[in-house]
Amino acid sequence: METTAQVAIRILPLRPNDPSFNQQQISYKENTLKISLPDKPLESEFDKVFGPFESQENIFNFICPIIESYDKGISSTILAYGQTGSGKTYTMFGNSDNHGIIPRVISHIFRVLSSDYTVRFSMIKIYNEKITDLLAENIESRFLSIRKHPDYGIYIQNLSEYVIKSPDEALSLIEKGKNNCRMQNTMMSLCNFRLTIICQITIINTSFNRNHRFYKSKITLCDLLGSERVEKTRAYNLSLKETININKSIQCLQIVIFNLTKNNGSHIPFRDSKLTFLLNESLEGKHRLALIGTLNPGVKNLYESFYTIRFANLFK
Ligand code: ADP
Ligand code: MG
Repeated sequence: METTAQVAIRILPLRPNDPSFNQQQISYKENTLKISLPDKPLESEFDKVFGPFESQENIFNFICPIIESYDKGISSTILAYGQTGSGKTYTMFGNSDNHGIIPRVISHIFRVLSSDYTVRFSMIKIYNEKITDLLAENIESRFLSIRKHPDYGIYIQNLSEYVIKSPDEALSLIEKGKNNCRMQNTMMSLCNFRLTIICQITIINTSFNRNHRFYKSKITLCDLLGSERVEKTRAYNLSLKETININKSIQCLQIVIFNLTKNNGSHIPFRDSKLTFLLNESLEGKHRLALIGTLNPGVKNLYESFYTIRFANLFK
């Protein structure tokens, strides 16, 4: 692929009372990961393999080189990909004791940037091929559309973007977005493992009059929907149409990445799903990209882990 994506795998720590605790099928040595499939073992090398006891700080240190040129107009995208329960949300958001990537990126920005920059923050949810603004004043507001501007590229129409002046302001927006998301999930009984949450930070250099350059960059941080396949969602009483739509973004993401990596001029169906349309610029190499594939090392998750590793391998 044209992008110089950085790819890491993070292994979930299983609790000692997890039935799979003594039957873990994934091992690693330095950056080589080994999965013991019944038929044959699979070994893959990544830019980084994070074991179950790796700190949130080290995960941030891995993605830091990808994001840190935001003050020079360079955009970046970070994706957390893996089956439900493998640690995507923990990796991206973390918790109040152990901040994940998103709060750490925000702290980094405010530590580094001078007052010549404006920082804006937005947060959306994609569920069932519909985009919701998680920071809108009226949370029942309508679904949003993706547009493509000839000069400025892809954007979401009518999205609320807040100017933030401190990490705390961003953290309270994230809390607000999560609460709105939780409320909608309960009201509409959504399957929360089928949603993608995307936080976007826009950094604008406002000193362009002096040096005649206008820098604007975006950091797109995605906690993707669970990557498990169609069959599993059948267990959740969804209609066929919902099942198809709900799986569309992950399938479409896989097809887009696969076709991009084949690099043989085949059609790249970016517009077939909201997720891939929105990530079009990131995936086709206009942004720096990092993927963190999260794995549950338990024996019953062997095949899902295998698919995650195979997907992550496409980026190399
Ligand atoms: P996902 O978003 O992929 O469905 P979560 O991030 O919600 O998975 O993780 C599932 C559970 O495991 C959560 O309770 C989360 O707090 C916990 N967890 C995930 N990764 C770690 C980790 N590296 N260290 C400690 N707890 C973790
Ligand atoms: Mg999650």
